Amino acid sequence: MGLLDGKTGIIFGVANKRSIAWAIAQALSREGMRLAFTYQGERLKESVEELTTRMDGSVLLPCDVTTDAEIEAVFREVGEKFGKLDALVHSVAFAPREDLENEFVKTTRDGFKLAHDISAYSLVGLTRAALPWMEKAGGGSVLAMTYYGAEKAVEGYNLMGVAKAALEASIRYLAANLGPRNIRVNAISAGPVNTLAARGIKGFTGMLKHHAEKAPLRRNVELEEIGNAALFLLSPMSSGVTGEVLFVDGGYNIIGL
Ligand code: NAD
Repeated sequence: MGLLDGKTGIIFGVANKRSIAWAIAQALSREGMRLAFTYQGERLKESVEELTTRMDGSVLLPCDVTTDAEIEAVFREVGEKFGKLDALVHSVAFAPREDLENEFVKTTRDGFKLAHDISAYSLVGLTRAALPWMEKAGGGSVLAMTYYGAEKAVEGYNLMGVAKAALEASIRYLAANLGPRNIRVNAISAGPVNTLAARGIKGFTGMLKHHAEKAPLRRNVELEEIGNAALFLLSPMSSGVTGEVLFVDGGYNIIGL
């Protein structure tokens, strides 16, 4: 008996086996959840397909989160196949490399818009599209991924920190809005892990080293640990929790000096 037998979920953000979204998928699947996955563009199709076909009953569809028509098509198809949705995972972020690397004051208008569209607004758009199917399930749980750079100025994180602040505020407003419909909305603030997206952050290797030295647990977090925390937030074990940002960072955020 799995904790999530009979439950269904959709995951945005698997690019490869190092993706946080894939670690979350493995934890959910282990507990019996049936999953749908999306991939961004043909470039990633093959690698995502290779991973997801191993999961029984899984569904795979293309979706660029900047396109409303693609979002609608995904939820129409997944809704029809699954009949309801219990969980939505948003593990998607992007900012143009120049806007991450330049001095923050040089952030461009176009870069700012794009980073917010992909990394923050998409959570609102995806949750809205999931709503009718979550209502059919009698409620649901939404989870997004964030980072400490939303709260404090972190060197090299720049524009992404501002987009994550918008994402975290969106978590709270969505949670307040949808709580009466028994839909919970939370985020995990993960410590640094070496993924494709992380490689876009200048000085990322130094960041990993610094976190491992300063965090109370004296190490970086493992992908599996993020997956297990996600499992908690997406399962009935966290039924009283909404609008929260849960740190899975070895305790790094509690340290002052
Ligand atoms: P990743 O590169 O594996 O995942 C990022 C995903 O975003 C990719 O699957 C990519 O295809 C997707 N994406 C980007 N633009 C998109 C678009 N327009 N439409 C659809 N999908 C799009 O890297 P990751 O580190 O697993 O990132 C997942 C999430 O975790 C992100 O929100 C990231 O900010 C967050 N996060 C990462 C770390 C870290 O250190 N890696 C720490 C805290 C939070």
